Amino acid sequence: MLQCIRCHETFTGFSEVEPNIDSFGMHFMCPECGRRNNLRTVGHDGDTVLIEQCGPAIIPTPVVDR
Ligand SMILES: [Zn+2]
Repeated sequence: MLQCIRCHETFTGFSEVEPNIDSFGMHFMCPECGRRNNLRTVGHDGDTVLIEQCGPAIIPTPVVDR
C-alpha cells in the first residue's frame, strides 16, 4: 500500500498512481494534493521491479470526512 505523506490518502498500488523517475530519484505524485512521495526499488521478481515507499513506517490514520 502507498500513502501520501501530506494528505494521508491511501492507494492500493501503481494502478492508482503512476511512478516516475527524475534526477532526484523515483517518486509518485499524489493525485489528491500533488505532493511528491519518494519511492525506492527493493529488488526484482523475475522481470518485475519491486518498489516500495521511502520514509518512516506508515501509521494508519483515521480518515476525517470534510
Ligand atoms: Zn496527497
